[in-house]
Amino acid sequence: LSDEARTKAAQPAMTRNGVTIHVGANIGSVAEARAAADNGADLAGLVRTEFLFLDRDTAPDADEQEAVYLAIADALGGRRITLRTLDAGSDKPLRYLPAPSEANPFLGVRGIRHSLVHRSMFTEQLRAIVRVARRTPVSVMFPMVTTPDEVVEARRMLDEVGDLPPDLRVGMMVEVPAAALRAADFTPYVDFFSIGTNDLTQYTLAAERGNADLLDLTSGLDPAVEQLIEGVCRAAGPQKTVAVCGELAGDGTVVPRLLAAGVRELSVAPALVPVTKQAVRAT
Ligand code: PEP
Ligand code: MG
Repeated sequence: LSDEARTKAAQPAMTRNGVTIHVGANIGSVAEARAAADNGADLAGLVRTEFLFLDRDTAPDADEQEAVYLAIADALGGRRITLRTLDAGSDKPLRYLPAPSEANPFLGVRGIRHSLVHRSMFTEQLRAIVRVARRTPVSVMFPMVTTPDEVVEARRMLDEVGDLPPDLRVGMMVEVPAAALRAADFTPYVDFFSIGTNDLTQYTLAAERGNADLLDLTSGLDPAVEQLIEGVCRAAGPQKTVAVCGELAGDGTVVPRLLAAGVRELSVAPALVPVTKQAVRAT
């Protein structure tokens, strides 16, 4: 970025009618956290912690995770980081936890389902997250949530870690249509919702993400997905933030529709932060 573009990107993004929208970055490494800071991200709206767990022979312990999450927070100059707990499954297998093969990995034991099976590994991650949250602003969120029971159980395990700092925010991803449809049932248990449009689109339209033959279905904001997002925003009300952290959030033509639905935070690839802020300012 030029100096001028960098200065502009670092400023908050406000719509023409004066609503400030936080524009964060989706990151999957410390290097991407640096890129996010360079591009003016207001926060890390999604830290895909899988990068720490994949392509190795043993799981990272709490010390190792803590060091990396702190490095991410440092790279972002102490801005809030949203740590998503491990989203593994047979679509993103772990060498040290061989799992039965599944005919439909995207419909299998992934995300929070996986964490609630592999409980000691989940607790180790929660421990690392809480330690980091005692030192720097942190939100934690759970992926692939389908039912309120899953959130209740995940929160119970989080509470068991003990000494949670009061400003640790706890949220969930909305990427399963069932969770979007009954978002109101989750509101007692979360501080925020973050909509993962990559998976929400895939599951709503029964169209596999990444399938090049289905891009007509999956590349835009489908009206059915838009209705689900509107419903989540209604259920969340003014008290709970609704973020969008799927690829759609970086599509400037879609930003006005997301904001109209009630979305107040967007998280995009680091390089897209400046244009996404521009799209907000034009709305
Ligand atoms: C999503 O599903 O939109 C999302 C942000 O999560 P991931 O792409 O990591 O599945
Ligand atoms: Mg997802």
